[in-house]
Order: sequence, then structure tokens, then C-alpha cells
Amino acid sequence: MTPPPRTDAEVPDYVRALGLPGLADIHVHFLPQNVLDKVWDYFDNAADNYGRDWPIAYRFNTDTRLSIVRELGIRAIPALTYPHKPGMAAWLNEWNAEFAAAHDDVIHCGTLYAEPESADYVPAALAAGARLFKMHVQVGVFSPDDPVLDPAWDALEKAQAPIVIHAGSAPLPGKYTGPQAVANVLERFPQLTFVIAHMGMPEYDEFATLAETYDNVYLDTTMFASGYFSSPAEVAPAYRERLAALEGKIILGSDFPNIPYPYVDQISGLAGLGLGDDWMRSVLWTNGAKVLGLG
Ligand SMILES: [Zn+2]
Repeated sequence: MTPPPRTDAEVPDYVRALGLPGLADIHVHFLPQNVLDKVWDYFDNAADNYGRDWPIAYRFNTDTRLSIVRELGIRAIPALTYPHKPGMAAWLNEWNAEFAAAHDDVIHCGTLYAEPESADYVPAALAAGARLFKMHVQVGVFSPDDPVLDPAWDALEKAQAPIVIHAGSAPLPGKYTGPQAVANVLERFPQLTFVIAHMGMPEYDEFATLAETYDNVYLDTTMFASGYFSSPAEVAPAYRERLAALEGKIILGSDFPNIPYPYVDQISGLAGLGLGDDWMRSVLWTNGAKVLGLG
């Protein structure tokens, strides 16, 4: 196996050694500054909110953060946004359109909330070119299974647009978190492209079952095995075997910049699972590139 990188600066050499054109990280956040400030305030109080410290490792201005992800090798940069209240998603979608228009390598993203207006602003965002969406169930405090979202799901399914969905009950459980509501949506919209954030932490097995069952359900690695919540050695052998079999369904995710450790920990943690260079190639590039439509 190719020796994993030890620092962020070693990541590009590692990616080259694997023969990859770059990293296809599907879970990166760029947000309007006032929203990002609120997110960072929340993490500053992580000891109260999550029960542990969460020092943001990449607390820099937008241009600096863009240069960092470019240097790491992220070829197409997601700018995932998400609302915590109604009436906010349409505005975030406008910001996403402007941010993508201003940067050639930023992916035009979109988001949605369980509200009647999603029936209009989701098709509008798709028509404007949005090609990657984010939904955060715990922060939004709504169910993805809420019928008010059906027109939006229908549009996203027809457009085959991937949705990174944080639906697992960690780091915080919510009234609507967990796999069942996502399973219910997939029963109605079986061709939806869901990318389950954080591998579905902590409901790993149930979300892995969805990825095994549905052609277009993927798992993103965000924070998994990075050593913060769990290290590679803590991954149960049975689940590790499922991950090996799910080689085509696992996509690199990082949560940059809102992570309490250097980016390299995500890469080295995944390599530490010991699933081999081919598995790493699929996860770091091939699967994400396919879902994001990268050449
Ligand atoms: Zn995230």
C-alpha cells in the first residue's frame, strides 16, 4: 500500500502516487460570512453543545480557504450551505449561484428546507445550474419525509442531482434524525441520488443497507475514522467488510473548514482502514467524480 500522507503538504504527492488527478471531496462548506460566523460561534461553544471541544482548524477568510482546498487537490469545490429556519434556503441558493459564478472551480450548490416554497426554488436552482444539494436534518429540525418536500424530491430525482444529506443522529440526535425517514423518501423516489453524510454516523449499518439497496445511494466519509470520533482501529471487522464491498458507493467527504484537526487526518484515517490502494482510488476520486460529473 502507498504510505499515507502525514501532513496536508504531503497530500498532493500521495494523490499523485495513487495516479489520481486530484481529490473529489463532496462535503466542503463555503457559506455567506454572517452564517459562517454563526456556525463558528456554535463550534466555539462545542464543549456545551457537543460535550467536547471543537477548535476550527481552518478559520481563515474565503480566499485563503479556497487556496488551501486547491492546494490539497480538490478539483471541483463544493460550497455546501444549509438553512436552520424557514425562509432562508432561497436566499442561500442565490448566494450559491453568485459564489459559483465568481469562481470557475466552485460547484454551483443548492439547499432546501421543508417548506412549500421548496417546490419552486429547487426547480429554479436546478434550472439556474445547481448540481449539488445539501440537507441538514438535525439543524433544520424537519423530516426529509415531510410530504411538503415531495415536489422538490421529484425535481431532484428527475435531474439526477446528488443531495448530501446529514440525517444520522450524531454528533447530536434530533427529533427527525435517523435512517427511517430517508428510507421512506427512497420508497417514493427510488432513483434519488442521496449521499449520506458522515457514513450515517452513528446508524452506520442501517445507512449502509440503504447504500446496498439503492443504486444511487452513497455514503460520504466526513469525519469517519479521522481519529476525532473514531479511529480506524475502532471500526468493527464486520462493518469494515461491508465497506470493502461498498467500494463503489463511498465518497470522500471532509467537512472542511469546520473540522477540529488537519485535513490530512481524514485521508490517513481512511488509508488506515487497510482496504488497499484501489479502494482509496475509488473513494478519493472515482466515485465522487462520477456523482459530480467531473471529467
Ligand atoms: Zn458538513
